[in-house]
Amino acid sequence: MNIVIVGAGLAGLAAAYDLAKAGHTVAVYEASAQAGGLASGFRDARWEWPLERFYHHIFTTDAAIIDLVREIGFTSQMFFRRPLTAQWWGQRGYALTGARPALRLPGTSQPRELPVPDLVAGALAVLTYPGLPPLERLRLNALMAYLKLGVRDWRPLERVTAASWTRRWGGETLYQGFFGPLLEGKFGPYAEQVNMAWLWSRFKARSVRLGYFQGGFQGLADALVAAVRRLGVSVTLGTAVEGLTLRPAGGWRVALAASSTLDADAVIVTGAPGLLRKLAPELPGSYLIRLDNLRSMGAVVMTIALKESLTGGLYWVNMPKDQFPFLALVEHTNFIDRAHYGGDTLVYCGDYLDPAHEYFQLSDAALLERFLPALQRVNPRFERGWVRDFWVHRERYAQPVVPVNHARNIPPLATPLPGLFWASMSQVYPWDRGTNFAVELGRDVARAAVAYSAVQR
Ligand SMILES: Cc1cc2nc3c(=O)[nH]c(=O)nc-3n(C[C@H](O)[C@H](O)[C@H](O)COP(=O)(O)OP(=O)(O)OC[C@H]3O[C@@H](n4cnc5c(N)ncnc54)[C@H](O)[C@@H]3O)c2cc1C
Repeated sequence: MNIVIVGAGLAGLAAAYDLAKAGHTVAVYEASAQAGGLASGFRDARWEWPLERFYHHIFTTDAAIIDLVREIGFTSQMFFRRPLTAQWWGQRGYALTGARPALRLPGTSQPRELPVPDLVAGALAVLTYPGLPPLERLRLNALMAYLKLGVRDWRPLERVTAASWTRRWGGETLYQGFFGPLLEGKFGPYAEQVNMAWLWSRFKARSVRLGYFQGGFQGLADALVAAVRRLGVSVTLGTAVEGLTLRPAGGWRVALAASSTLDADAVIVTGAPGLLRKLAPELPGSYLIRLDNLRSMGAVVMTIALKESLTGGLYWVNMPKDQFPFLALVEHTNFIDRAHYGGDTLVYCGDYLDPAHEYFQLSDAALLERFLPALQRVNPRFERGWVRDFWVHRERYAQPVVPVNHARNIPPLATPLPGLFWASMSQVYPWDRGTNFAVELGRDVARAAVAYSAVQR
């Protein structure tokens, strides 16, 4: 079968890999000048490695992406570390994961880290977190342990909202001090609608050790492009697909930029629901309504290259949005050595926002003015002269919103039109979207296309 894939993000490339291996003729078209989609990077002239436009890492539990990395021979380029992730409270960030309890033994000058398991270290860190009263810290540990180890079936959890479940079992103080800010930070106006299965999946599937690649996620995307090309896939970057029309004789006519067209037996569209709607307006009205009902949040992320370190060793800090103009403060160079970035300290200031939010309209310079005073609050020594350069990346489709009983809302990978498939973050569930699940989804949609081809023969 002759298959066109729209998009060279992780889902499109994983699908291309499996389809080529199954003997199909595959052509991938990517609108952007580089592969990698949401995980793609950019590079300042003085950096050795590109940096993700949006902060990225994987978890040790991300089996699908780790498997694909192994299959393409990229494992030696993948590494895991245990950076500190923290919650801001009062005047500083408190590490809740990644930290190990340490003991200073008599006669030694340096405290020695105790080799306790990550789960125990995390529980101990929560017990000393001053942002919650002592009883609430115990409760939080009990709830997190239950969600990680005690829940076998997530389906009952998708019938209730995360807000009501955590209020019920954790109480109002814990909700206001911990779960509420987490939900509001990520989902804004939809915070009270998100279901509990989503929150469960965050605790269940995430490891303390975080993974990254030599050359960043762009390095992985480029290695995937090379791997699929070796299998005979044609990957064309910088060429958008502009429309898809069902041919009367069967199959699809694919319109590319510059008025050229090509024919395919099947098409896989990756990316936002709005893209599928735009490319294939012939989809039945009932299906288009399902696409329109899928909600999502956008993301605005500023990367700032600084001359000095900002957070004193923290990688990720969740910031209280009622006190700071962004949700996540990520000091990437406390995870990855700054030597790869010409000695720059790289800090992301990121937020998940409704695409109507003013941050999508503000100029980059105006946004910087909003953010700089916050950096000074994080580190009183910070001064404007530390800023060497900055970049802003905006994405309208960044985080799908998963309401109660979301399983029923998810459109299948095979659309109602013959030979047209769709694979997007909105179909990743109950897990939170991520590169691992993009790979899994890409492989699932490849299987669906192979099954379709078997029926056509
Ligand atoms: C702020 C942020 C932080 C994140 N952090 C992490 C993280 O830490 N770890 C993690 O694993 N994941 C993270 N993710 C999620 C991860 O990036 C995505 O889940 C994953 O990259 C999605 O891959 P995809 O292939 O499904 O979609 P995309 O990456 O969106 O790929 C779709 C591709 O289609 C292309 N395209 C669009 N229109 C056309 C057209 N008309 N013609 C041709 N091509 C087109 C796009 O350019 C894009 O390359 C994060 C995402 C965001 C936004």
